[in-house]
Amino acid sequence: MKNKIKVTVWNENRHETHDGIIRKKRAGDDACRMHYPQGMHAAIKAALDLDGSFEVDCAWLDKDDEHGLSEEVLANTDVLFWWGHCAHGEVKDEVVDRIQKRVLEGMGLVVIHSGHKSKIFMRLMGTSCDLLYRVAAEKERVWVVEKAHPIAEGLPAYFELPHTEMYGERFEIPAPKDTVFISWYEGGEVFRSGLTFERGYGRIFYFAPGHEAYPIFHDKNVQRVLCNAAKWCAPRYRSSYGCKCMEPLEELKSRGE
Ligand code: ZN
Repeated sequence: MKNKIKVTVWNENRHETHDGIIRKKRAGDDACRMHYPQGMHAAIKAALDLDGSFEVDCAWLDKDDEHGLSEEVLANTDVLFWWGHCAHGEVKDEVVDRIQKRVLEGMGLVVIHSGHKSKIFMRLMGTSCDLLYRVAAEKERVWVVEKAHPIAEGLPAYFELPHTEMYGERFEIPAPKDTVFISWYEGGEVFRSGLTFERGYGRIFYFAPGHEAYPIFHDKNVQRVLCNAAKWCAPRYRSSYGCKCMEPLEELKSRGE
């Protein structure tokens, strides 16, 4: 039997857990709790579990003092999912360093929605990752533009999300490897909503849908994208980095005394 892909789903988990006093309530918190009573990470895990190809664990910002992402956890992770929004700045730099190193060594990374402004995504892109946004519960039509891409497997030509947050161009990122999806929004904007990148030996997939106030992770097509992305991002090769002094393979005849 084929080994299962080990996935760690990381969720900031703050919209789900604000106490209204120390952490003030944000727009969308109530809707988030209604759609995701166990947290968005639990909904993403449930979708991956249903596929049967993955062994899934969850971690979140306040899980422990390393945000649930110790060296040991990352050493046991093939693909890391990342959802963050209002507390990007609270993610410790040493944990970001650790994730970046693992990606360069071959770990996959799936960054969802507002994770575009996470420390790890901005670090790996090297740009501001800014975009346009609007929260108005409008319709999104996600067009599959690379039909043969493994992340598009089993999807129709397009699918619609009845209520979404608009993300618009220009998305300030370096040129992606593949543009798998482009979204159109009811208000008129378009956005490159499914993008792949490679950094070192690691594969990265960015997916725009996933606003906390709408039941987007319960959508069957979105769930299919997440499963396909976890498979595509799974490591094919892993190696550590480091410069090495190389002895010549042949005698160097031109070298002086
Ligand atoms: Zn959002």
